[in-house]
Amino acid sequence: MSLGLISWQRARQLVIDELVGDLAARAPRAPIVTVTLAAAQGRVLAEAVWVDRDLPPFHRATRDGFAVRAADARQAGVVLAIGGEARAGVAWASAMCAGTTIEIATGAPLPDGADAVVMIEHVVRLGDGTVRLERSAMPGENVVPRGSEACAGDVALACGSRLGPAQLALLASVGCAAPRVFARPRVAVLATGDELVPVEAVPGAAQIRNSNAVQLAAQVACAGGEPVLLPAAPDEPRALKLALEQAAACADQIVIAGGVSMGRYDLVGEVLAELGATFCFAGVALRPGKPAAFGRVLGRPFFALPGNPLSCLVTFEFFARPAIELASGATPTPLLLARATLAEPLAAPLLPLAQVLPAALVDGNDDGAGDSGVRVRAIPTHGSGDLAALARAQLWLLLPPGCGPLAAGDEVAVLPR
Ligand code: AMP
Ligand code: MG
Repeated sequence: MSLGLISWQRARQLVIDELVGDLAARAPRAPIVTVTLAAAQGRVLAEAVWVDRDLPPFHRATRDGFAVRAADARQAGVVLAIGGEARAGVAWASAMCAGTTIEIATGAPLPDGADAVVMIEHVVRLGDGTVRLERSAMPGENVVPRGSEACAGDVALACGSRLGPAQLALLASVGCAAPRVFARPRVAVLATGDELVPVEAVPGAAQIRNSNAVQLAAQVACAGGEPVLLPAAPDEPRALKLALEQAAACADQIVIAGGVSMGRYDLVGEVLAELGATFCFAGVALRPGKPAAFGRVLGRPFFALPGNPLSCLVTFEFFARPAIELASGATPTPLLLARATLAEPLAAPLLPLAQVLPAALVDGNDDGAGDSGVRVRAIPTHGSGDLAALARAQLWLLLPPGCGPLAAGDEVAVLPR
């Protein structure tokens, strides 16, 4: 199964092509379920949702102040009689007469006849039922016209939209209390290794807790999948085989962690091959994560990821995440390669592989100085098993192959997650 190292970009594209092919062969894309808005965070819309009435549904005041006819307020100093008060949630019943003004709250419907709002800061109450405008008003000022954000009958959100806080708010505003979403793909999470014990157990002197399973389950959920946590499998061919068969039987995709390197007890590749797996790639020019493999076994796409926590986390994000996103009905999130400036020198080794390093934002990014953009520094680690360093990271640096040490002030690509 030595297929040679390929670039992470090529590996990621192979995953995407394979999953897109899967989806094309499957109609409908996935079962559809109806969920409450409270349960819809992260889900993917299976049907478009339409706007049920104009947004905003009335000409809406965007400031606390006084509704006026702009024709009455062409210059500062005009005095107008207060004709009443328009509050949010209450429609102003009658038309506003020329030469008058209506006190109005942010979010209230503009009275008929008014076409602008003068902010309260620019109005003086004269105490005799009149106000003096300290500013002139232009038609439309501080007013959002009815239907200017969306019209009744428009598509509010298209099929395939991922529902985050803003999308959920939009659904709420158009009265969609129970969106129809795609069922989440079930993703089996199988950690392997003789040294692993469950989180609740007391580890022996040479044992460690199975943190990868927890990490991967959280990543699966973030990507839009439903994690199916399997008990960790030992480094033993028969047990591994059974665990993989169980994974294929209970899930749509399989993520395996550990046992994919070159060691004597790294048996995952061998057992996958025995089960008739086909490999799209096995080995990526990426550090950490070089042994990562992807293919199909027992009819399921599988990802065999290295067991070191950082390697596991990175390779999941690069390769498994787009597969789960596609299977959940969404389009893959780009890896978002933003640029940032190194605040400190970086002693990266010169390697023919792309390198991913945990990093932190440097204080002062929010100070408004705004001259150098985002400034970051690499977090020193004791290798790719250093979970404590990983947990301090706010983002990752991605160095291209052939990149060696860097100086403070050099630009680097960052993955903001
Ligand atoms: P492997 O990829 O199996 O060679 O494992 C590489 C390193 O990752 C070893 O130090 C393992 O102990 C560690 N490791 C493997 N699986 C896990 C896991 N599920 N949770 C935490 N660490 C792990
Ligand atoms: Mg192992």
